[in-house]
Amino acid sequence: MISTKPLREADPEIAKLIEQEIERKEYSLELIPSENIVSEAVLEAAGSILTDKYCEGYPGRRYYGGCEYYDEIEKLACDRALQLFGGEVANVQPHSGSNANMAVYFGLLQPGDTVMGPKLDHGGHLTHGSKVNFSGKFYNIVGYGVDPQTQLYDTDQIVALAKEHKPKMIICGATAYSRQIDFEGFRKAADAAGAYLMADVSHYAGLIVGGVYKSPIDYADVVTTTTHKTLRGPRGGLIIGRTAPMKKISKIVFPGIQGGPLMHQIAAKAVAFREALQPEFKEYAASIIDNARALAAGLQKRGFDIVSGGTDSHVMIIDLRSQGITGDIAEDALGKAGITVNKNTIPDDPQPPARTSGVRIGTPAITSRGFTVSDMDIVADVIVRAITNHDNEAALAAARADVRSLCSRYPLYRHKAGTYWSAEG
Ligand SMILES: *Cc1c(COP(=O)(O)O)cnc(C)c1O
Repeated sequence: MISTKPLREADPEIAKLIEQEIERKEYSLELIPSENIVSEAVLEAAGSILTDKYCEGYPGRRYYGGCEYYDEIEKLACDRALQLFGGEVANVQPHSGSNANMAVYFGLLQPGDTVMGPKLDHGGHLTHGSKVNFSGKFYNIVGYGVDPQTQLYDTDQIVALAKEHKPKMIICGATAYSRQIDFEGFRKAADAAGAYLMADVSHYAGLIVGGVYKSPIDYADVVTTTTHKTLRGPRGGLIIGRTAPMKKISKIVFPGIQGGPLMHQIAAKAVAFREALQPEFKEYAASIIDNARALAAGLQKRGFDIVSGGTDSHVMIIDLRSQGITGDIAEDALGKAGITVNKNTIPDDPQPPARTSGVRIGTPAITSRGFTVSDMDIVADVIVRAITNHDNEAALAAARADVRSLCSRYPLYRHKAGTYWSAEG
């Protein structure tokens, strides 16, 4: 018989660690722009019995019996994804954003083909051609960067690069770029080379479906995204695109690179997509950007530099060079103050990636918690205090106390306290 014991009895070690993580999240400021906080409904679906089932294949064409309800779940997820983004065909099976991107490479290209993508220190993701990633190992990558003056992607320069190198695919989209991406300009670059255009909107997906960031759907042949960043769903990937390329790509997702889909995650994606279709999600998306703009202004007011001078999205990169401190030290100091960020390269960073000259911060998670524009000055203040006092333990402790009291105003999981583990046992 399988055990019916709750986790706190079945495995107190893991249960205690989950309880500690709940506490950490409750009382710290989550400013990693690629993280968010899912709803209870998404958690419930992700934690459901759907984890048990093998459903290799696609709805109506499975390699296992007993998939009738799973077919309905996957179809709902795909229908809702198409309602959200537009497009012709959706594939909700990629286990992650990286898998979604790998499926596009393998589906549309041959090893050795030329691909143009944003360089890692110019906002790109590992899967956009980094040497340590499959993309950089299997393909001939031509990286593009931001203009040194404006720190923006300049699609005229990118069109010229496309004409010169004739890539078979151009990737647009980024993991550390705060401004609007000119998807139409990237289409021109793709057309100039006869290339596919892949838009990886992992970071912007929630803003796009919320109507506050331009959509690539009319310009790109395929759009890939994670479901767990601004889109506020469970961890996972999603691909949407035109029928012809999607036919090739779906054959790569399964059976090319994945086996059985994670049906509990797919159900949770469907739940998150339904949430994103509600009118409130538009307000949420708009608030993410309002908060980011207010936070950037609060930092600039205190003498901090922001790459490109600000943000049109959920994310910004602080350029720390004028503060005489590197990204690793800032990340550490902010951590001691209860503020979670990640160090990040700035364009043409003079420091190595393990050190960096910047930190990347974003507002999706704190906006999910209920923080508003009126809180952003206090958030800017504690960030600046932590960074400028990085070697002053007393000042960091004072900033930590302020973060704690700020977080106390926006309860997150207090109703769950003791669910998984309690000292009384
Ligand atoms: C996060 C991200 C990915 C990868 O997502 P994982 O789920 O971590 O594999 C891919 N592309 C971009 C632009 C991202 O920001």
